[in-house]
Amino acid sequence: MSQLAIAAQQTSPAPNVSFEFFPPKSDKMEAKLWESVARLSPMAPKFVSVTYGAGGSTRDRTQKTVAKIAQDTALKPAAHLTCVGATKQEVLQVAEDFWKAGVRHLVALRGDPPEGMGAKFQQHPGGFRDSVDLIAGVREYNGVPDARFEISVSCYPEQHPDSLGWDEDIAFLKAKQDAGADRAITQFFFEPDTYMRFLERARAGGVTMPIVPGIMLQPNFNGLKRIAGLCQASLPNWLHELYEGTEDDPETRELITANVAVELCHNLSEQGVEDFHFYTLNRANLALSTCRLLGMKPQAATA
Ligand code: FAD
Repeated sequence: MSQLAIAAQQTSPAPNVSFEFFPPKSDKMEAKLWESVARLSPMAPKFVSVTYGAGGSTRDRTQKTVAKIAQDTALKPAAHLTCVGATKQEVLQVAEDFWKAGVRHLVALRGDPPEGMGAKFQQHPGGFRDSVDLIAGVREYNGVPDARFEISVSCYPEQHPDSLGWDEDIAFLKAKQDAGADRAITQFFFEPDTYMRFLERARAGGVTMPIVPGIMLQPNFNGLKRIAGLCQASLPNWLHELYEGTEDDPETRELITANVAVELCHNLSEQGVEDFHFYTLNRANLALSTCRLLGMKPQAATA
């Protein structure tokens, strides 16, 4: 029986999924986001996260989006938050505003400088030094009595451009855990072994928190090449070959993208992975078809 047939008949627990969105810039994009949220909602995600633009550029839009998710849907929003371009007090004020809007989960990040990925990060005068400092700051903050956020953080199975080496990376991830992180979400990758090797290193280095694979659903291969180049994620030759000649064929590219994601998730599932975080790019169709191909069934509508 094929893996797809097995998935369709699956009686064992379906994976846990979470979806990442970005805050919309225009009315048209806003309509698309809410349509995507509504279509993905029946997949009963563990949480849905909303990114925070470089240098806090989307602060208000991120805030508005997570607040609306918290207030108008049954979904659990997670707000991304970075250290860039703001003092500690300003960043903690944003966290406090998230809490007051009903958000109970942060994705705590250092972030990139306003010049973008690849430029050197400079600590803001009076700002947090790095993501560990931010996590510790959120944990110590008492602006709202009894506020205890769930905190997710990033990690990099193929190393971040700022990496000083594997030992330092794993020690740094462990420091995030020790500062109070509950979960790590990986940068995207395409080879299952990349994740499994990283998991092994992290566990050997004392990282015990869940490490959830981040699965990219970007059907625009040129766009994917650009992002991968900036963040040093590798795109295997077989992926280049799959997309070759599809520049003018978006429908085929979407089918390829969903199939690649499903195969990656199936492979990881077989190795015991139960949670997946999907980079949706605010599009429901790829995330939805990937979930269905993983054997997930719609639950009662929650949005
Ligand atoms: P960190 O993990 O804190 O640091 C990056 C790397 O630098 C580490 O892995 C380590 O190799 C090295 N490093 C840093 N400090 C030390 C140290 N003291 N000792 C040793 N090594 C160190 N960007 C946004 O602007 N907005 C978002 O919403 C956003 N969401 C993201 C979500 C996920 C799941 C991921 C994986 C990335 C996201 N990014 C986002 C991108 C992220 O901001 C960039 O990759 C940024 O360059 C690093 O931020 P970080 O928190 O991942 O960094």
